[in-house]
Amino acid sequence: MTFEELKALDHQYTMQTYGRFDVAIDHGKGATLYGLEGEEYVDFASGIGVASLGYGHPAWVKAVEEQAHKLAHASNLFYTEPYARLAQQLCQRTGMSAVFFANGGGEANEGIIKLARKYSFDKYGKGRSTIVTLRNSFHGRTITTLNATGQDVFHNYFFPFTEGFRYALADDLDSVKAQAGEDTCAVLIELVQGEGGVLPLDKTFVRELANWCQEKDYLLLVDEVQTGVGRTGSLFCFQQYSILPDAVTFAKGIAGGLPMAGVMANEKCRNVLTPGTHATTFGGNPIAAAAALAVLNELDDAFLAGVNVKGEYLKEKIASFRADCVETVRGLGLMVGIVLKDGVDRAALVKALYDRHILVLTAGPKTIRLLPPLVISYEEMDRGLEALKDVLCGA
Ligand SMILES: *Cc1c(COP(=O)(O)O)cnc(C)c1O
Repeated sequence: MTFEELKALDHQYTMQTYGRFDVAIDHGKGATLYGLEGEEYVDFASGIGVASLGYGHPAWVKAVEEQAHKLAHASNLFYTEPYARLAQQLCQRTGMSAVFFANGGGEANEGIIKLARKYSFDKYGKGRSTIVTLRNSFHGRTITTLNATGQDVFHNYFFPFTEGFRYALADDLDSVKAQAGEDTCAVLIELVQGEGGVLPLDKTFVRELANWCQEKDYLLLVDEVQTGVGRTGSLFCFQQYSILPDAVTFAKGIAGGLPMAGVMANEKCRNVLTPGTHATTFGGNPIAAAAALAVLNELDDAFLAGVNVKGEYLKEKIASFRADCVETVRGLGLMVGIVLKDGVDRAALVKALYDRHILVLTAGPKTIRLLPPLVISYEEMDRGLEALKDVLCGA
């Protein structure tokens, strides 16, 4: 099939909900992707932070293949070993106490919101259902998580949204305090706002927020759908912020390309969701769980240290481009935001990068976001950097 044929087929039979790039992906190896005719792309996007081990990673392929032969699905009516072993890994490596597996980030965030509201209902009864989230956040596309998202552009068309969210300013504890009150059960944050522009929260703000939440018995909920699973250079980003949240969600990178997500709860919250209160048919699917175990097995301390070194390498190289090319570069680990100068035509830059076969993402109003596979090689990064420099600085 040619690219034009594929594009026509897609347009004829699929809901056109995505503004796709004019690129078709056929296969991949490492952090390099290949189109229908074998054309090569350097991948700084990893399928939006999903392909943590890149493409065709031998240990990942082996784990998926073996589990596919053995058992693809059993449902949560039965015990399965990959499910329990994955939960053990996640808890032992984070200090959290128990895991619920879901299938995508928005769905995991629905779960964490249910957990917070039930925690409060069990302890205080009705009336404490409001969750304070941050301006510029992103928490998903369901009717509830759209409203949890602190950006007005997401609050359109689909009325009525789930009520019970108020929005505070990031890095401003007084603003959070002003939005919280008698009706509040939790505060939900991303530690690095991803879609919002690759904005890491201030460490002092986060620690003070954690202490204040504990004082008020508001749960501190952390959405690590994008920042989790090694992306920011620690297994979970909260580990760099020296806090232990009450509950954490993860998704994107966990299973290295298969749909999987989850909620981790600390000791205080591990028994909030009880039989019959929360469930999913696919959650913790054996193949996805086996894939996730393969991902976690690769992400040891040495690997995570390497993620930080690669992230620093990218940021240093980009910061050393001519001073007038880039406003600033920021982020943690391999979650990098290149903030463009005011007035720069971002869409044109992104198109120029795609024309050079460099796949990037955008975030916020004027940021180019890089989320490469965590296994990206220095040779692949250098090829991407060369094109970035040419395009950003006008070769
Ligand atoms: C991507 C993302 C989501 C939504 O995840 P889906 O798997 O698309 O439902 C939620 N929160 C954050 C921080 C994300 O980056």
